[in-house]
Amino acid sequence: MIEHYPLRYIDRSQFYKINELHPDIQNIQIKGKLVNIEEIAGGRKSRLVARLRDETGIIELVWFKGIKYIKPALKAGLEYVVFGKPTIFQNRFNISHPEIVPLVEWHKKGQKGLQAVYPSTEKLKARYLDSRGIRKLMEHLLLEVNDKIEETLPDYLVNQYRLMTRGRAFLEIHRPQSHEIINKAKGRLKFDELFYIQLKIVRAKIGNQKKFRGVVFKEVGAHFNRLYKDILPFDLTGAQKRVLKEIRKDCSSGYHMNRLVQGDVGSGKTLVALMTMLLAIDNGFQACLMAPTEILAQQHQIGIQELVAPLGLEVGLLTGSVKTADRRDIHQGITSGKLKILVGTHALIEDKVQFKNLAIAIIDEQHRFGVAQRSKLWKKSAIPPHILVMTATPIPRTLAMTLYGDLDVSVIDELPPGRKSIVTRHFKDNQRLRVLSFMKQQIDLGRQVYVVYPLIEESEKMDYKDLMDGYESILRYFPRPKYQLSIVHGRMKSADKDYEMQRFAEGKTQIMVATTVIEVGVNVPNASLMVIESAERFGLSQLHQLRGRVGRGAAQSYCILMTGHKLSKESRKRMETMVKTNDGFEISEVDMKLRGPGNIEGTQQSGLMEMKIANLVQDTQIVSFARSKALEILEEDPDLIELKNSILYENLELQNKGKINWGRIS
Ligand code: ADP
Ligand code: MG
Repeated sequence: MIEHYPLRYIDRSQFYKINELHPDIQNIQIKGKLVNIEEIAGGRKSRLVARLRDETGIIELVWFKGIKYIKPALKAGLEYVVFGKPTIFQNRFNISHPEIVPLVEWHKKGQKGLQAVYPSTEKLKARYLDSRGIRKLMEHLLLEVNDKIEETLPDYLVNQYRLMTRGRAFLEIHRPQSHEIINKAKGRLKFDELFYIQLKIVRAKIGNQKKFRGVVFKEVGAHFNRLYKDILPFDLTGAQKRVLKEIRKDCSSGYHMNRLVQGDVGSGKTLVALMTMLLAIDNGFQACLMAPTEILAQQHQIGIQELVAPLGLEVGLLTGSVKTADRRDIHQGITSGKLKILVGTHALIEDKVQFKNLAIAIIDEQHRFGVAQRSKLWKKSAIPPHILVMTATPIPRTLAMTLYGDLDVSVIDELPPGRKSIVTRHFKDNQRLRVLSFMKQQIDLGRQVYVVYPLIEESEKMDYKDLMDGYESILRYFPRPKYQLSIVHGRMKSADKDYEMQRFAEGKTQIMVATTVIEVGVNVPNASLMVIESAERFGLSQLHQLRGRVGRGAAQSYCILMTGHKLSKESRKRMETMVKTNDGFEISEVDMKLRGPGNIEGTQQSGLMEMKIANLVQDTQIVSFARSKALEILEEDPDLIELKNSILYENLELQNKGKINWGRIS
């Protein structure tokens, strides 16, 4: 209960005058003389009305319950201090069920400074546990526990950073003296929460490193070098080189790599993945790449196969729709070790798939994969393979520290040279003609266009209808045979989807009308315009992903966001953000502020965001500080066996009995 923190505080040293009241006012305190008290009978609807007067006016105080206790306690002619929320009834202010104390008593022992306001629920209120009820209970609790609250941080931390002791922090946060002291108390309790989270994550990470030795890649071999020198038509970007170096360092040292590569759409993550796989193959091992959708897996397989064919390597493809006979071949190739590179979807992690010597597993666009699925990859080989997770949904640094705290993070923060940033515009539905004519203009220049419709599972039927209606009207504007359209949606057989995707990728069709199946990873460099229908129904990170489907070739690319006329404030902010910036990190910061960290993709399943007082969006400095302290302490004393750290060890043990299974996170 002591962790049921106040929502905010009210200043009880201030008095309002009755003529200062206005409808938006919260709880207030007034002082005056009771002028009359009257019980208005009405059976079960009786009420007690008392009128209080100050120099500026009169206000009514009303009680519907407990009349028989309250009435005898009130005396007309006496001065009182009254506290409550004024509401307007029949054009006059009144306060129902106020707190009321005679002025004389208030001077002796009344509440004078800041007072806590507690969150409550309808259920609690029905049990008299509204803010006031909770506050009264809290008073008792604080008397009980007063000096019994145990410290959870070692003295050296408390002293060095002049932290408030934990016991005092609890007292101050519930019975505050000043805003300054409240902030200190909050700071201490937030640090507690964040520090223990970091301590757990960092300790788990160090523990894993000790437990699992990684496969060692001794050399950079022929495949890697030939791809780099003879096959790639371009040089790697500085950021790609740096990240590859980080990966090589991990994999050559006996360290078991668990690395997250963040890179904006189009930053060239796939190539980094491929080079990493070649590193494994040059050292005699196998590699796999797992993608979240069939289309994406196929694209990867085709793209990679093309690049490695000159090296004499074969790339296997394993997805749900691969035929049984082919599947058997692939299983055999993988188990015998003949097949070195396997690309696929979830089908990769089925128990039947056993590798001869898998040394690296790469997961593309990881937010679609559950943590449990990821951990299955560990069991695919005698020695757990190195894990490389690649995501185009950048998350703010402090969130990464928590969510992926036990992964090492690399960032590809540079786009290949020559990329023009995508021009984004927001149009309302009634400007559709302009959009259609712009589409035509792009197509007549030889470019290709995506038109994307939302697909939300709950309203699948309606979405499908929207998509088909849209398709029909585009067809009218772009008649065959001059124009060719493709359509891809979730209800199609996967062979048909592939066929349509293929036609678009080969430039045989100019317009791709699709639901969000094309969101992730799809690569058609000649496409220069992305039109997103009902854009207000997409989240920011999804919009950014979709926009990333264009701007992959040399031409100037465009993104058009179509929305209805009326937009919520939040939707408008999302459109504005998209128009303003192409920077995925900036977008993710806005996204997190709009939606809160608990709604960022990938965070839901982790249980990490259930914090009592800290907030990953606002308390970024405390997160960084907590992380650096946790690292410092564990580097010096990894098992927390030193006497000065015994308090940390004990508290971790206590917390481990709690609900979050930290071992799941990898
Ligand atoms: P993402 O990070 O979104 O997965 P991709 O790996 O699909 O990006 O790369 C996007 C495009 O950029 C591809 O066509 C790829 O061939 C190209 N590309 C990758 N690295 C470079 C580079 N260093 N120079 C030029 N083009 C590159
Ligand atoms: Mg990609």
